Amino acid sequence: MYGLFDTHAHLDFPDFESEIPIILDRARSVGVTKIITIGTDLVSSARAIQLAEAHSMVYAAVGWHPANVLEAPADIREALERLARHPKVVAIGETGIDHHHLPSLRTGGTPSEDDLYRSRQIDLFRQQLEVAAQLGLNVVIHERSAFETAVAVFHPFATRLRGVFHCFSGSAEAVARIIELNSLISFTGILTFKNGENIREALRVVPSDRFMLETDCPYLAPMPFRGKRCEPAFVRHTAECAASVKGWAYESLVEQTSQTAEAFFPKLAS
Ligand SMILES: [Zn+2]
Repeated sequence: MYGLFDTHAHLDFPDFESEIPIILDRARSVGVTKIITIGTDLVSSARAIQLAEAHSMVYAAVGWHPANVLEAPADIREALERLARHPKVVAIGETGIDHHHLPSLRTGGTPSEDDLYRSRQIDLFRQQLEVAAQLGLNVVIHERSAFETAVAVFHPFATRLRGVFHCFSGSAEAVARIIELNSLISFTGILTFKNGENIREALRVVPSDRFMLETDCPYLAPMPFRGKRCEPAFVRHTAECAASVKGWAYESLVEQTSQTAEAFFPKLAS
């Protein structure tokens, strides 16, 4: 019997400080058995590993988030590889490409800063794909307003590793492109939003073994908690919604998505 998994949580964020045991209890009480907490830079990744060491149901992913690339050292490969060799590190991420938060869209940002930001994102994404390929790990990909760029950087690695395009909010066509790359998608609470019909459509068309569930907590709480702080227990609401969209029994949805997660993150199963 499989439990429900939250495959993408930010438990190391200050939002959860000192509350972790209560939050894990609440997750267990609704049937969540495994949680992957994901790093956004090297310090956050080290904290993710500490949480995984302290709590048996918690696993870690280590990486550098594309929105933080201007703070990154030139080359993170060696340091990342050291973290990624930990037995509870199940993937590299979160990494990827995000053109939604360009410097020029903030006060004082210039077009040349945009160029630097974009090129650093590509460079850091590629470095993380290299480490993943070398260690035989898959990657958790954050992509926002930059699908073509993300696919172009990922494509040369697609024969050596798989990616999950997390917090998926793209079209049915984007689903087909990702499947072609032998990769997966995962759904957050936005699946449950009233205006989430395009996302529910993506879920209808995605093959049954190519999607997973996550919270991306503390962000993106599903209905009926939209706008509140999200936590792993809330993945239950996303799972109930996904079961009804797919027309599956709830237990089948849990079993299928958790099997998919253990195949994608093999160290989750060991
Ligand atoms: Zn995230």
